[in-house]
Amino acid sequence: MQVHTVGEGTPEVAVVGAVHGDEPCGARAIERFLASDPEVDRPAKLIIANERALERGIRYVETDLNRALPGDPESDLYEERLAHDLATAVEGCLSLGIHSTVSYDEAFANVAYLNDRKREIAAHLPVTGIVDFTAVSDGRSVELPGFVDIEAGYQGSDAAVDNAYDCIVAFLQTTGVLPGDPPAQDPGFYEVTEAIYKEPTRTYRVRAKNFERVAPGETFATVDGDPLVADDEFWPVLMSAEGHDKLLGYRSTYHGPFSTVPVAADATDD
Ligand SMILES: [Zn+2]
Repeated sequence: MQVHTVGEGTPEVAVVGAVHGDEPCGARAIERFLASDPEVDRPAKLIIANERALERGIRYVETDLNRALPGDPESDLYEERLAHDLATAVEGCLSLGIHSTVSYDEAFANVAYLNDRKREIAAHLPVTGIVDFTAVSDGRSVELPGFVDIEAGYQGSDAAVDNAYDCIVAFLQTTGVLPGDPPAQDPGFYEVTEAIYKEPTRTYRVRAKNFERVAPGETFATVDGDPLVADDEFWPVLMSAEGHDKLLGYRSTYHGPFSTVPVAADATDD
């Protein structure tokens, strides 16, 4: 894990790239930011997390780092030890994690257990949507207090690096590291309700478009040529035939613009 620091003092703000080694946009955007020799008002850490997987262009070496948090320093598995190191490095920090997808070419934000700090970060990112993953959270970085992720675009694309860079700048403006005002574009808010799993050895094709409503009775995908039909309406998120070996994607509910979504009564700012 590489940890770069800008500014003087102990950082309370962190940017994390390359949690997944086959998603290089975060590491490239961090390198671009560091090369710009930025003038900062408060310190920040810029972390390139899974160097071994990044070097090899693979998602992970032994296990998925973004399902292994908060990790275990005694584990036999590299990413479980790395998850502990990462969780320790971002402890007490407002953090932005950077990912990319094979399912959607624009940037969107992922959150879980929204609290005031996470809302503030998410509200000022230049993204087209904000997705709440609380219902299916399972060791992801977004479960950490103060942590918001973005999916910056298609894996390996230059556009994903540009989107990631823009999100880093906006995030560092929101957290007072960089001068200037971040955007406030009020993207839509989607709440994931469940995962859609694939059956092994079968061939899937996705017909629905991510973030676009699937109506009841609509065929949203096919499996070995047979239709998969929606019982109820939903909005697909991270849905793709090739993105994951077990997962086709997620169903979500659209709740309207982010600014109109009420704060949950039990949201604690821990
Ligand atoms: Zn990722």
